[in-house]
Amino acid sequence: MLERAASLVAGFSTNMAWKFSTAGLAALALTGAIAMAQPPKLDPESFLPPVLPWSGASEKLIAAANDPWITPSETTGLTATPNYADTLAFLRRMDKASALMRLERFGTTPQGREMVAAILTKDGAKLHDWKPTFLVQAGIHSGEIDGKDAMLMLIRDMLFKGKDSLLDKVNVVFIPALNADGHERSTEFSRPNQRGPKEMGWRNTAQNLNLNRDFMKAEAPEMQALLGLIAKYDPDFYIDLHVTDGMDYQYDITYWFDGWDGLYADSPSIGKWLNEVYRPEADAALKANGHIPGPMIFARDEADLSKGIDFLAFDARFSHAYGDLRRVPSVLVENHSLKPYRQRVLGTYVLLEATLTVLASEAASLKAAIAQDRALRPKFVDANWKTREAPVGTFDFLTVASEQTDSPASGGKVTRYLGRLGSTVSVPVYGSEPGLQIDVAKAYWVPPTKPEVIAKLKLHGVKLETITEARTVDVEMIRLDGFRNAGLSEGRMTYAPTGVKKERRTETFLPGSVRVSTDQPLGALVAVLLEPENEDSLFAWGFFAEILSRVEYMEPYAIAPMAEQMLANDTQLKREFHKRLAEDEAFAASPLRRLQFFYERSPFYDQRYLLYPVGRET
Ligand SMILES: [Zn+2]
Repeated sequence: MLERAASLVAGFSTNMAWKFSTAGLAALALTGAIAMAQPPKLDPESFLPPVLPWSGASEKLIAAANDPWITPSETTGLTATPNYADTLAFLRRMDKASALMRLERFGTTPQGREMVAAILTKDGAKLHDWKPTFLVQAGIHSGEIDGKDAMLMLIRDMLFKGKDSLLDKVNVVFIPALNADGHERSTEFSRPNQRGPKEMGWRNTAQNLNLNRDFMKAEAPEMQALLGLIAKYDPDFYIDLHVTDGMDYQYDITYWFDGWDGLYADSPSIGKWLNEVYRPEADAALKANGHIPGPMIFARDEADLSKGIDFLAFDARFSHAYGDLRRVPSVLVENHSLKPYRQRVLGTYVLLEATLTVLASEAASLKAAIAQDRALRPKFVDANWKTREAPVGTFDFLTVASEQTDSPASGGKVTRYLGRLGSTVSVPVYGSEPGLQIDVAKAYWVPPTKPEVIAKLKLHGVKLETITEARTVDVEMIRLDGFRNAGLSEGRMTYAPTGVKKERRTETFLPGSVRVSTDQPLGALVAVLLEPENEDSLFAWGFFAEILSRVEYMEPYAIAPMAEQMLANDTQLKREFHKRLAEDEAFAASPLRRLQFFYERSPFYDQRYLLYPVGRET
């Protein structure tokens, strides 16, 4: 799920409100917590919009009740999902009975649960390089767990029901629940806008972190484990399975990737492949099985579609944008929350099977697209996405009939969906434009005083050179004019420079410093991590907050006579001072600011105040 719909409920109407946690949401949650002292025994069916009737060929995928390999969810008619222990037990049972799968522990959650991936291959211990490796990730938001139950069915069918040829040319790495702790925080009340499963897990981890905001800062142990798994298997295709929230519409399986209609791709060949090779195959398979695929949709105003929808660009903290930045074909799937669990699981199965098929038939073109993008050495990378004011096109939107009704509770009108197909409406499409172009340096120098930053670069798989003898280098350094607090996010205080200046400096980097060349496939990722002006940099996430504090100061009784000496000895300084007095009344009237003027220009001033300590080799 993405947060925008919830933000709208909380009264945030700005288009980008979904991106941020808000005080309004916190207030709602607080109110909810008080009300929840006596949980209402409400059946969501009594307040959710009516279900659209549905049937499709994918219903034939469900195992018979007496099938020995019926999955735990199928035993409930795809209305419930097994807990983590039962999920792993089912995987272990299949593992024992088949040579095509093995289970691998790749991490431990903060609450001590084992993080498990299933490796499906015909290759044996060493996976062949020529085959695409497909990383299937379910449960990054564990309440949105369709992908887990769909994949258990598909694995069963590959191992025991004659679909093993899907593994002839493709290897699979499957994570059943990335957020395993959140998966076990399971109740009937986790996701009120979502039609099943009966009980579902929680969006955030046990540390209350949202893993789908953690791809860049990589703080959560689950994310660190995932990055380790990505480094180990170097996937050629990555799918991140979610369930959306928001308005009602006909689509049941929506998805998105950078490169959709040519938009936003840092990896242009991969984006083109996804748009022109993958998307038609995925859509055709879904349609053939009775599903209605569509793009991930954000309506600007659910009550008035003529205001348009957004096809948004995402920051690299999100899975699919991170994948785009590091040259891994990556697809974000958002099943529609108002469709029943059964329909959503079946649609996911179809999409995953279609993905395996197209990965097998188009392995060569996929590998070629990846190689082309990994050879790119961009001079600039787009960042800090803002909403675009002018539309970029139109979209034929398959609506569900609705009306505006009076709501005594809200005191106003609310949308009521009527449970039947609405018309197809041509709506304007808006999107994003970059607010910043990151100027990629030839290399970055990180001093040994930033071990956590160096560790994060390594975690992302970046190649770097650690120097063992001090080296003096001519570099560009960034000095901040100032900074603003950009809010609390994911448990961290975030920051943004109010302006920057680049200074040429000769810096000595001590042993233990690293030189990070951008002449590598992850060069663009390096620049986004290390350029402080962008909103997903390690600076923005607060990993350089110490440079924002000034140390040492000079007493006015010492500055004043020093200032007189400086004025007497430096005519240029004198001119600058008098010009400032003439032009800036507030400055002229402030004894402290006047003295500060001289202190800042004296050798006693902290020369490293607001100096970002990473060097840029240009
Ligand atoms: Zn989600």
